Amino acid sequence: MTAHILLVEDEVKLARFIELELGSEGYRVSVAHDGMAGLSLAREFNPDLAILDWMLPGLTGVELCRRLRATGSKVPVILLTARDEVSDRVAGLDAGADDYVVKPFSIEELLARIRAHLRRTQEPDEDVLQFEDLSLNRRTRQVYRGKRSLELTAKEFDLLEYLLSHPRQVYTRDQILETVWGYDFMGDSNIIEVYIRYLRLKLEEQGEKRLIHTVRGVGYALREPNL
Ligand code: CA
Repeated sequence: MTAHILLVEDEVKLARFIELELGSEGYRVSVAHDGMAGLSLAREFNPDLAILDWMLPGLTGVELCRRLRATGSKVPVILLTARDEVSDRVAGLDAGADDYVVKPFSIEELLARIRAHLRRTQEPDEDVLQFEDLSLNRRTRQVYRGKRSLELTAKEFDLLEYLLSHPRQVYTRDQILETVWGYDFMGDSNIIEVYIRYLRLKLEEQGEKRLIHTVRGVGYALREPNL
């Protein structure tokens, strides 16, 4: 089945270029050049993936993403951002975006991200959560970093499962506390730091790159090592 991609980009030349490249990869593409038109297109045909430029006339890509999520849409969203907007990326992730591509980007990079996100949403096995070389099986409770099996305690497993449920999403300390330890947890909230440290030690035992990243003043996220 051909994936149908929504592209919202106000730079007409760039939009045309991306549209042609995606088309030659076999994707169906619908293009809008402003936020409101993008929103109505999204509602019209329910895309398999959306590529949204951050700065758009009418409605920003972030706001558009937020509105899509408000309607319950789980469509994978890739934001295109200018380099000076990168520092705002937490705002985009909070709005429910799944990924970022920083302009100027190579088309190969964008295509690779698209393939990765489409693969994930078409993944039939919900029991297995994967990110980079990390995989976690909810049913068998086995966790692997590459080929290496990890021995996790019950709480470490729960914490990692939560972070893995939405890679790149930033979870606040309160969200983590409520979900992993329970709303009525009365202990020391430093417990999160302690468990993050345990998890990192186990995940990086063989010198592997860091996947659990601290987002200063906010919380934690699972991210690519280079971000
Ligand atoms: Ca723009």
